[in-house]
Amino acid sequence: MTIATVNPATGETLKTYTALDGEEVERRLRLAEGAFRAYRATSFEERARLLNQAADLLDADRDDIARVMTTEMGKPVTQARAEAAKCARAMRWYAANAAALLADEVPATADARDSGAERVLVRFRPLGPVLAVMPWNFPLWQVIRFAAPALMAGNVGLLKHASNVPQTALYLEDLLRRAGFPEGCFQTLLIGSGAVDGILRDERVKAATLTGSEPAGRAVAATAGDMVKKTVLELGGSDPYIVMPSADVVRAAEVAVTARVQNNGQSCIAAKRFVVHERVYDDFVGRFVEGMRALKVGDPLDEDTQVGPLASERGRAELEELVEDAVRGGARVLCGGARPEGDGWFYPPTVLADVGRELRIHREEAFGPVAVVYRVADVDEAIAVANDSPFGLSSNVWTRDEEETGRFTAELEAGGVYFNGMTASHPAFPFGGVKRSGYGRELSGHGIREFCNITTVWHG
Ligand code: NAP
Repeated sequence: MTIATVNPATGETLKTYTALDGEEVERRLRLAEGAFRAYRATSFEERARLLNQAADLLDADRDDIARVMTTEMGKPVTQARAEAAKCARAMRWYAANAAALLADEVPATADARDSGAERVLVRFRPLGPVLAVMPWNFPLWQVIRFAAPALMAGNVGLLKHASNVPQTALYLEDLLRRAGFPEGCFQTLLIGSGAVDGILRDERVKAATLTGSEPAGRAVAATAGDMVKKTVLELGGSDPYIVMPSADVVRAAEVAVTARVQNNGQSCIAAKRFVVHERVYDDFVGRFVEGMRALKVGDPLDEDTQVGPLASERGRAELEELVEDAVRGGARVLCGGARPEGDGWFYPPTVLADVGRELRIHREEAFGPVAVVYRVADVDEAIAVANDSPFGLSSNVWTRDEEETGRFTAELEAGGVYFNGMTASHPAFPFGGVKRSGYGRELSGHGIREFCNITTVWHG
């Protein structure tokens, strides 16, 4: 894949970049190794000062970087600004909380004595340079949710960003440098995905995190496994959105629209499969389809655009294929379903019903504004349909029934269960999936500890 900015709203190539050669990659790896030796000794206070500075700079840059993101991957500019603001908040959250999250743990005195020790403590030490392979869909957020905790823990970062967001990738390196992080603490490597294997095999790289598709995750995890290196994988999702009879159906339908089309429908935690109890099915689906039809699709730089183009021509073609396959297999199109004429990689908000369980769209991730609705008879069937997916990232349930709430909490196969609302990440709560959505967690104390050497310090 060429490393280039291609405007998805027009198809125009705006800027191309040459990938780093082997010599330059080697120089960067040496730099990262050297930077880690010094940076690991800095205090939490110093790291927090730098990260807060980065948050202030990002706030000041918000409008400019939002336009860059929109031009590179097509998200509505209002959502791009919100993403930048969210990143600044996450940086401040980790700056404020990392010292407490990584404070030494002191096991019970009785256990220490039982082991023959005078005292024992558990210390969270950094690992070293961590490689982050990141996707284009939230080009700032995906990186910051790795970088903020990693830097606070004393690690240094090497970013291989998606090839279609090079300007955002370079901005991130520049932002952290301007904030005062020492040279080499956070580097953007403009490289193709073919170069990842060699870098991950390098002994100076201690671990890797990947957010992206399942095939990319499998490739990185295979190499990391071969090298016995820790990985965190945040992969695809096909989250269920369950609506039960006790729900506020009007609100559930309103939120469902946002949950499906946020980020032009290209979000791993977007609700993709709408599982609706038969008693409220017609009411919910009617409102949902109406909401999807009413969305304003258009130029993502316009302030009132709600849905922009898909990020790539290939992405649109893959989505179209999924819809066409479903229609051939008997699915009914309730709205959308055909690409518009004209420039750019637009695809209309689409709702499909009567989707058989054998169809591709039932099992695969629809990465664009396409929703599938399912009619179910009871809570057992709702859980069965929700869990009938290779993915297990997050899940949404609308119910006011306590018994149902208990069942969904216990039985949904996902890394998150969000009641009467939609999934949204927050720095204080862990984020990640099960099944083929990946493993490990980002954000919160769980996230910052993923790339730590959890060290038992025993004093006899
Ligand atoms: P992608 O094609 O897998 O790309 C993600 C990153 O992996 C890019 O930097 C890409 O580089 C790189 N890559 C691709 N193949 C690779 C390989 N064989 N070895 C090493 N690196 C490789 O995914 P995408 O299309 O950018 O993103 C969409 C996917 O990400 C969706 O499935 C979505 O659900 C998932 N996602 C998950 C989360 C989560 O938190 N769970 C969040 C956001 C997105 P190039 O660009 O150079 O190919």
